[in-house]
Amino acid sequence: MSIIMKGSEVAAAMKEELLREVEKLAQKGIVPQLGIVRVGARPDDLAYERGAVKRMEAVGIRCKVIELPESISQEVFEKEFSAVDSNPDIHGILLFRPLPKQLDEESVRNIIDPKKDIDCMSPVNMAKVFAGDESGFAPCTPEAVMEVLAHFGIDLKGKRVTVVGRSMVVGKPLSMLLLKKNATVTICHTKTADLGATCRNAEILVAAAGKANMITAEFVSENSIVVDVGINVGSDGKLCGDVDFEAVAPKTASITPVPGGVGTVTSSVLAKHVVRAANYLNGLS
Ligand code: NAP
Repeated sequence: MSIIMKGSEVAAAMKEELLREVEKLAQKGIVPQLGIVRVGARPDDLAYERGAVKRMEAVGIRCKVIELPESISQEVFEKEFSAVDSNPDIHGILLFRPLPKQLDEESVRNIIDPKKDIDCMSPVNMAKVFAGDESGFAPCTPEAVMEVLAHFGIDLKGKRVTVVGRSMVVGKPLSMLLLKKNATVTICHTKTADLGATCRNAEILVAAAGKANMITAEFVSENSIVVDVGINVGSDGKLCGDVDFEAVAPKTASITPVPGGVGTVTSSVLAKHVVRAANYLNGLS
């Protein structure tokens, strides 16, 4: 019988810890605050924003939404972004991406204070992830995967872990976080010669390819652990992961669902990062 690793369980445990941390800051007169920078009003961004604000406020993190016009010029955008970055009451910044095409994302990566860069846009934080230095901020989704594995007591030391996907948002940084925990990591991509065999060889398989239901039962070995990072719309119009859950779940020791898995934990990681940033910026550990 496979264990379904529900994101809600992980998020609930993280909430308890966050409430304690926020209370400790409150005793010092500090209210952690997230600055959300949104250019335009894309429905996806607005939906994520509503969820994130709700999650932050539930643990006592304040949110300030900075909405900028979609037609904003690079110069004005940089000025507005710098003002958020230098606001001492804002401890962490979330910028919705992709930006409209007239804006250059690279410049923001270099403007943002790495100490406020809670979703790892700055090359400083990304370099830290690759160096195994835990003093920076890893991207939220890979860290959410690590939270799920830790919550369900999955020891990574010496384990064969295969990650399908090598993007800078998920696959590569996640592989570095797994390596830091002493897993033996294999990274797969579209040019991997025998994807099936490489996946079957894994004790833990993480799918982050963005291809609906591509991981079928033939890709997993008996009693393996499967984490599905994919968020796709299936042929039936419903949200689904990269893993064919119905076919794969019976073979596994444990598996994350989509929806209700890794994605549910991402905004809790964001909240954790804001609290950590508030501690750093106030000279606390
Ligand atoms: P991406 O930038 O499109 O990268 C996809 C990666 O998967 C690439 O490295 C690609 O290989 C590889 N890939 C694609 N099809 C493959 C196949 N058939 N066989 C082997 N490798 C394949 O996507 P991403 O931004 O990393 O996101 C991946 C998935 O995670 C998406 O479904 C996305 O929606 C989801 N996501 C979820 C969250 C969350 O909170 N749960 C957050 C972010 C993203 P190449 O490099 O060779 O092209």
